[in-house]
Amino acid sequence: MEAVSHIAAGVAHELRNPLSVIKGFLQLAQLTNDFQKYYDTILAELNRMNAIIEDFLSVSRRKMDRKLQSPVQIMKSLVEIMKAECLLHDVEFAMNLKETALLINVNESIIKQIMLNLLRNSIEAFGKSNQNRKFKITTAICDNEYFILVKDNGKGMPEEVLKQLGKPFFTTKESGTGIGIPLCKKMIEDHGGTFKIESTFNVGTTVILSLPLITT
Ligand code: ADP
Ligand code: MG
Repeated sequence: MEAVSHIAAGVAHELRNPLSVIKGFLQLAQLTNDFQKYYDTILAELNRMNAIIEDFLSVSRRKMDRKLQSPVQIMKSLVEIMKAECLLHDVEFAMNLKETALLINVNESIIKQIMLNLLRNSIEAFGKSNQNRKFKITTAICDNEYFILVKDNGKGMPEEVLKQLGKPFFTTKESGTGIGIPLCKKMIEDHGGTFKIESTFNVGTTVILSLPLITT
């Protein structure tokens, strides 16, 4: 919960910016009697506010209770929805799972939400390019940790983006929120796991996360 309340404070702060833009533009619209001129900006700011709220609620709304679950089953339960998303965006989808009978102690819906967030980032990283777009999930076991690698061959990140990555509200997208990555990272770390990102500009991005396997 601590991670969430920290981000909640940021969300409230971040919502104030578009709010004051909207307020200012409404006042301008009235003064100049030219509503049309300010309409697009107001709508864009409202959409941004909505996106921030949606992104935040998608994770924080969920009950935090955890259960012992099979990481393999969780990943398998994501296949259909991920396949459909990829098909829709002309992306080749692949999943290569390491089978295990071992369990992880997680909130399943949070883990799924994180994976879908990462998929969304990958899809957004393809932009309009027509290259052979690929999205691949690979899992592995190492030192009692279940590793999940999420790889895309999208546009990757230049050095200056990588440096900022993980800062709440850092985004390079016009209507981005910049809370996807920080929330994912906090949630995984909250589960006792690790989260890191490797990326090469114009080559692609790999998110590597791990969750502790319960061995006793
Ligand atoms: P948002 O998606 O709203 O911008 P995120 O926190 O999810 O916020 O991501 C922050 C930034 O990290 C993005 O704006 C983008 O520049 C970069 N990024 C995240 N994932 C990827 C990816 N798979 N490929 C390239 N860049 C990425
Ligand atoms: Mg995102």
